[in-house]
Amino acid sequence: MKIAVVGTGYVGLVTGTCFAETGNQVICVDIDQSKVEKLSSGQITIYEPGLEKIFLRNQKENRLQFTTNLEEGIKDAQVIFLALPTPPGEDGSADLKYILGVADDLGKILKDYKVIIDKSTVPVGTAARVHAAIAKNATVDFDVVSNPEFLREGVAVDDFMKPDRVVIGTSSDRAKKTMNDLYAPFVRQGNPIIFMDEKSAELTKYAANSFLATKITFMNEIAQMCELLGADVDMVRRGIGSDERIGKRFLFPGIGYGGSCFPKDVQALAKSAQEVNYDFKILDAVMEVNEKQKLHLVPKIKDYFKGDLKGKRFALWGLAFKPNTDDIREAPALYIIDELIAAGATVATFDPEAMNNVQKLVGDKVTFVHSQYDALHSADALIIATEWSEFRTPDFERISSLLKNKAIFDGRNLFDLTQMEELGYHYVSIGRKVINP
Ligand code: NAD
Repeated sequence: MKIAVVGTGYVGLVTGTCFAETGNQVICVDIDQSKVEKLSSGQITIYEPGLEKIFLRNQKENRLQFTTNLEEGIKDAQVIFLALPTPPGEDGSADLKYILGVADDLGKILKDYKVIIDKSTVPVGTAARVHAAIAKNATVDFDVVSNPEFLREGVAVDDFMKPDRVVIGTSSDRAKKTMNDLYAPFVRQGNPIIFMDEKSAELTKYAANSFLATKITFMNEIAQMCELLGADVDMVRRGIGSDERIGKRFLFPGIGYGGSCFPKDVQALAKSAQEVNYDFKILDAVMEVNEKQKLHLVPKIKDYFKGDLKGKRFALWGLAFKPNTDDIREAPALYIIDELIAAGATVATFDPEAMNNVQKLVGDKVTFVHSQYDALHSADALIIATEWSEFRTPDFERISSLLKNKAIFDGRNLFDLTQMEELGYHYVSIGRKVINP
């Protein structure tokens, strides 16, 4: 099939590359000229495990091309995916200006029947709005389909190639057949393509992300209770996770969820609820708890230094909002950095993939170093904000030889409490007892 993908970010680039991988002819369109130039010259623009290899292979086979010209990009395409940003607007609702802007342009340039597929996360009713925006100028027949994307950054290629399910919202039989043909190679193991109406598909994505954010937040609150009552959240997690109705996944407490999806999607669903006069109480609580959770470690750090962080230096391991990505949108580490700097401290940081993105954002506000150990030189304590695998079994002797104080504030519960006790660290984690030598 000939496919156009409009928007070549985390979702668009993975979508385009994976469809090329199954033999389709793909053109990705983006307004960012420098991104298109880089991608056209064989340079990948995001870090996503496994993506570069198939990106290069498909580009070499001429199945994957890039352009800034929408008309040229969609000319021969049978289907057009919209993988455009839907950031929160000032009031928290999803800002649809990118999607409706492209829809408006499409109406003027469509020359034959095409299926336009909304892959972005959008509020209920957007497919109808996109349809209306295109129809304003279109002289040909077309269908608009809602096909929300469930890939997770860090395992996006696997998620796309072997999705748990594909959700497709359409009321057109013609579009349904096209979508079925398009996704058949991805569901050969029997995972379902679930067809439904457009509105239900749109809401499914928000419901999924809001449910997952709620699960994380619930565990963060249980962790708070553990700290206050002297229980251990790891034990509680294992105790409840073995109940199949609850499940083992997404029960790890930490310093809050971040990223480009959960925060904005929970906010957007709450806003949608407001618009229909529904008081969606859980979502308000989830947002409030998560805001606080991002800074959960800061008062504990302040306590350890008797309330005075002026002149203190911190080593910070991890900047990305989660491991295996360079995405720093809404990353808890950024909030911690701001608090430490506001309190007069300095920060030296290491992240395997996300340092360039943070440097673009904060400049020389923090010091970026080349290894996790370099960050520790003359630091007063170590803070861990992202659970990259390489942070899990560090050389503790080396850590203590470099740190001024044997103090670790771990927002991701990476280390065993008994081990930390034996090693003589002051060790603060989430929902577990504080080790105080
Ligand atoms: P992104 O910001 O990484 O990428 C968006 C791309 O669109 C950028 O490259 C930007 O330059 C381009 N763009 C903006 N306006 C354009 C225009 N008029 N024409 C062409 N290109 C244009 O965003 P993303 O993370 O890929 O997310 C896209 C959508 O997918 C959002 O709605 C998001 O909620 C949803 N989503 C994201 C993820 C994820 O893990 N990132 C997962 C599932 C769903």
